[in-house]
Amino acid sequence: MGFENILGNEKVFEQLNRFRTKSAFPPLLFWGRPGIGKRTTALTFAQILLCPKGDGCGLCRFCQEVSQLTHPDLRIIFPLPPRPNNEKERDLETIWRLRQKYALGATRPLIPKNYLIHLEDIHDLTSEMRFKPLSGKKRVVLIIDAERMRQEASNALLKTLEEPQPDTVFILLTSRFSFLPATIRSRCLPIYFPPLTDEMIAEYLYKIGYDEMAVKRALSFAYGSLRRALDFMNNPFPIPEEVLSLAFSPSIPSLLTLIDELRLTDWTETVENLILLFHSQLLKRFGLKDYETSYPEGFTTEELIARIDFLLHLQSDLEYNLNRRLFLFSFLTALLRKGKRK
Ligand SMILES: [Zn+2]
Repeated sequence: MGFENILGNEKVFEQLNRFRTKSAFPPLLFWGRPGIGKRTTALTFAQILLCPKGDGCGLCRFCQEVSQLTHPDLRIIFPLPPRPNNEKERDLETIWRLRQKYALGATRPLIPKNYLIHLEDIHDLTSEMRFKPLSGKKRVVLIIDAERMRQEASNALLKTLEEPQPDTVFILLTSRFSFLPATIRSRCLPIYFPPLTDEMIAEYLYKIGYDEMAVKRALSFAYGSLRRALDFMNNPFPIPEEVLSLAFSPSIPSLLTLIDELRLTDWTETVENLILLFHSQLLKRFGLKDYETSYPEGFTTEELIARIDFLLHLQSDLEYNLNRRLFLFSFLTALLRKGKRK
């Protein structure tokens, strides 16, 4: 088995294959856009390292345990909801439920912005390092969305990263490389996952039975991410209807009512989807891509560019936790406004 079944990323697989025979190597930092196979690759690499046959057969008990995240020598650390101050015991049920969403083959969950990697998870991990791996010869540690470590957590991890145990393989994953502290970045070997090409994604979608029209539509949304393409197949309107109708038919009954009615947990995703939607319309208009979109295409080129420009600014504001109402107000008025952003 091994990497054959994962889409694209041959260069990454070559690099990892060189590592599999080495007794020790630096902590690895997988980075690249969401939904292009970082976690799948990391878990497959863990199977290769922990499978007694040495090839990640995918079938033996150990490989199965890795894919279900139950292998005793596989540690997985991921962002968790903030813990209420009065709560002494950890909410194990929630942790377990969230954890299953990272299993091999599971679709990556959308993680709310306020979920962070908890300091106590890093503490547990570092104290575990004193012991040998329980079974097998290696221990694999996956830190998902590593940029969600606050300073205390990343400081606590530094020493362990600096003096890696020869029997422990660290893999940090992030889609936002620049958000990781420089101290962490400098102690890892970065491995970049390039976006998948439209051809790779199309080939995969045809193989699992989609027709040409569906594939062209999904590609207009995929942007190098297989996950985005598959999400689109399950939900062809990944942008909330209220937002869409605002974006395309600028007549507005009551902006303020709408602000109160919109219940969106992830604005980052919506803003990103809108940027990509407008961008794919531009690409199509210039004849660069043969996409199909299910959305109206009534904007002038200038209007499309102005909207992309505005949304890109908004995207960086979102990183700084702009007040929700204020954000929604400027977001919705921008969609309404014809023409250029001031
Ligand atoms: Zn196996």
